[in-house]
Amino acid sequence: MKIHEYQARQLVRDAGIPVPDWELVTTGDEAAAALDRLGGGLAVVKAQVHAGGRGKAGGVKLVKSAAEAREKAEAIFAKPLVSPQTGPAGKQVLKIIVARAADISREIYIGMVVDRVRAVPVIMVCAEGGVEIEEVAGRSPEKIVTEPVDPRYGLQPFQARKLAFALGLHTDLLVKQVVDILVKFARLFTTHDCSLAEINPLVVTPDNQIVAIDAKITFDDNAEFRHSEWDAMRDPTEEN
Ligand code: ADP
Ligand code: MG
Repeated sequence: MKIHEYQARQLVRDAGIPVPDWELVTTGDEAAAALDRLGGGLAVVKAQVHAGGRGKAGGVKLVKSAAEAREKAEAIFAKPLVSPQTGPAGKQVLKIIVARAADISREIYIGMVVDRVRAVPVIMVCAEGGVEIEEVAGRSPEKIVTEPVDPRYGLQPFQARKLAFALGLHTDLLVKQVVDILVKFARLFTTHDCSLAEINPLVVTPDNQIVAIDAKITFDDNAEFRHSEWDAMRDPTEEN
């Protein structure tokens, strides 16, 4: 079962990983009001559909004012969003989030999936995160660094440090933050019975803070019987 970015953001934040504030809206006027409530300034307007590749498809827009938030939101609502993951007909956008923008020095990828060959959950990181991740993975798969995660013990701190060093993070402050985030992220994956979890990008800001600005989560349907809370997260308009 897939969920929206705004729902995944909440799970990521609840797991203790920093996520900039956001609001969910369904009209251009609401987008303008949301930007004011977030305190104005730079924000992003983001289409909420069960498909990735929104940035390249025009579904993620940086805005500087309430008027611009209204204009960009209305443009996104006006026509189907077509990304490599939506199929050629695209997807009608019914919900948008307005999120506080982050200052970005670096974009990192972190993800976790069940590796069926090794029969174990695997956490993955890549120093070259962002909208080109599929190309990087196709062209240079060695840039995706992985560690198996034994669900009985969780991601071990030594494994998390290994991944942080593989990301080329060398200051104590950054390594500490990333280790903490990776351990919490692996715990989130297991606790919520995910089949996929991704934060792409996890960003490093110019003042060396690390924040998640996108999140994607898919639940493993086999575990549905023990997650009555999933019912409230289901979006039938996104399911075929
Ligand atoms: P998708 O993965 O569907 O393309 P993202 O949320 O990752 O959507 O957005 C695509 C790109 O837009 C990001 O890689 C980042 O460069 C930029 N972006 C997204 N959210 C923010 C934000 N809050 N602040 C600054 N830039 C952002
Ligand atoms: Mg993304």
